[in-house]
Amino acid sequence: MNDPIPFIDLSAQRARIRDKIDARLAKVIDEGAYVQGPEIFELERQLSAFGGMDDTIVCGSGTDALALPLMAWGIKPGDAVFVPSFTFAATAEVVAWLGATPIFVDVLGDTFNLDPENLQQAIDEVIRAGRLTPRVVIAVDLFGQAADYPAIRAICDAHGLKLISDAAQGFGATLSGKMASAWADVVSTSFYPAKPLACYGDGGALQTSDVELAAIIRSLRIHGYGTDKYDNVRIGMNGRMDTIQAAILLEKLAIFPEEIEARMAIAARYEAALADLVTPQRLLDGAVSTWAQYTVKLPAARRDAFMAAMKSRGVPTVIYYGKPLHRQTAYKHFPTAGNGLPVSDRLSGEVVSLPMHAYLDAATQDRVIAAARESLAEAAEAA
Ligand SMILES: *Cc1c(COP(=O)(O)O)cnc(C)c1O
Repeated sequence: MNDPIPFIDLSAQRARIRDKIDARLAKVIDEGAYVQGPEIFELERQLSAFGGMDDTIVCGSGTDALALPLMAWGIKPGDAVFVPSFTFAATAEVVAWLGATPIFVDVLGDTFNLDPENLQQAIDEVIRAGRLTPRVVIAVDLFGQAADYPAIRAICDAHGLKLISDAAQGFGATLSGKMASAWADVVSTSFYPAKPLACYGDGGALQTSDVELAAIIRSLRIHGYGTDKYDNVRIGMNGRMDTIQAAILLEKLAIFPEEIEARMAIAARYEAALADLVTPQRLLDGAVSTWAQYTVKLPAARRDAFMAAMKSRGVPTVIYYGKPLHRQTAYKHFPTAGNGLPVSDRLSGEVVSLPMHAYLDAATQDRVIAAARESLAEAAEAA
């Protein structure tokens, strides 16, 4: 009864599409086009159709998918790139790679996504200080929910800034039926195994409808090729995806819309059963989240006791993220917007994520819900 359940179960999906994936793998291995094989180009076409952008470029990771557009735009020392602090390190890491300055911006306490007002404040401060040139905003779709793109796009337009959607967790999420592609210059995503749309290793993709940008990024992805691969016209990287991962993703993309629906249904069930005791991440009106994580807030003083009580019932919980980036050793010397990011600080003490994946059956959901209700009561008593 108290056998631990997995936080994310990849084996249920594997069982569902085992035959199709195994057939795809055998074909790639037999045919031998391990790099830039036909599945790469098929996947790029299908992702474009899915995501509503003219062009998709698949690459080796979600991190490369963020770095490539910054490289293509010539982001360099002296440039400012605005990023949320309450996110995974890769969002800011790529900015530092290029010698540019990540400016950490706060998030909203209910949606956990970039706060447009604080973004405006951060841009104003950079302009006033006059040392850095504002160039790009990277908005993150945290835990699967699209950021407030209409508001963020308007701010970007007012200042001539490019907008990247870091959709590593939220690829496929929509606001009023539209994906981030309706507002962003580039949508980047990751296919790391724990992400909602994932391969069996590392992989990523970026999408754009800017034809010239896409051509430069294709070149950068493969060592900056010019007329052919031994003619190098810019400093690039080896950023290719393996053909095997593309073959796997073709089968996974086919069932992804159904999986998003399953995640929405599980999240709705969790919310109905727990909202009297904890505060879940709030969705914007008309939002569909891919629910990369199902995350709730509870008083910071009760979190450790709650997690221990869940563990004793065999239900794992995880903290995303226990330390915002502006507090991390590698990033704390970079600027923060005006007020010092109190919401990111507060959230890092309050959030905790429950098991979530598309194949969580009703009985397991019941077990998570029952364990959560008991554990919340225990944690409240202990406090
Ligand atoms: C996972 C993740 C990335 C990086 O993706 P990788 O494929 O692991 O390189 C970037 N941004 C966010 C928000 C992520 O969650």
